[in-house]
Amino acid sequence: MLSHLGAVVDNCLFCKIAQKQIPSSIVYEDEELMVFKDIRPAAPVHLLVIPKTHISTLSDCTAGHAPLLGRMLALAPRLAEEHGCAVTFNDDGEPSGGYKTLVNSGPDGGQEIYHLHLHVIGGPHPWKVEVARHG
Ligand code: AMP
Ligand code: ZN
Repeated sequence: MLSHLGAVVDNCLFCKIAQKQIPSSIVYEDEELMVFKDIRPAAPVHLLVIPKTHISTLSDCTAGHAPLLGRMLALAPRLAEEHGCAVTFNDDGEPSGGYKTLVNSGPDGGQEIYHLHLHVIGGPHPWKVEVARHG
């Protein structure tokens, strides 16, 4: 039994999505996590991975959250594969495809929704994501 499951916060949009009180385009779900399509996609693939339990921001996470955070990040390659943006290598070892994994944290980090979420953003460019690609 996962003891941290169950915390749901009133008036949290992503808690309501996790509880299916608000509709979303769900692409993956298990006991602990949900993944749905971003309503304003910044790229051909734009998914949000959330814990079903309410955590406001990455800054609320401690070492005890490492398994949960690890599971969220470890989902990204599977999602990328399923949505056609996995990283692949040709016979010459040249990579193609790919995606960005992103956790915006706090106002200066561009966080708008205060329920922890991992963006998985990929597919052919151009993208609308406002993150410098090279520093
Ligand atoms: P952030 O700026 O990291 O907090 O990202 C919040 C993301 O949630 C944005 O990319 C929004 O487009 C997305 N978003 C807001 N409302 C919804 C919704 N109802 N369903 C899906 N995505 C949403
Ligand atoms: Zn929440």
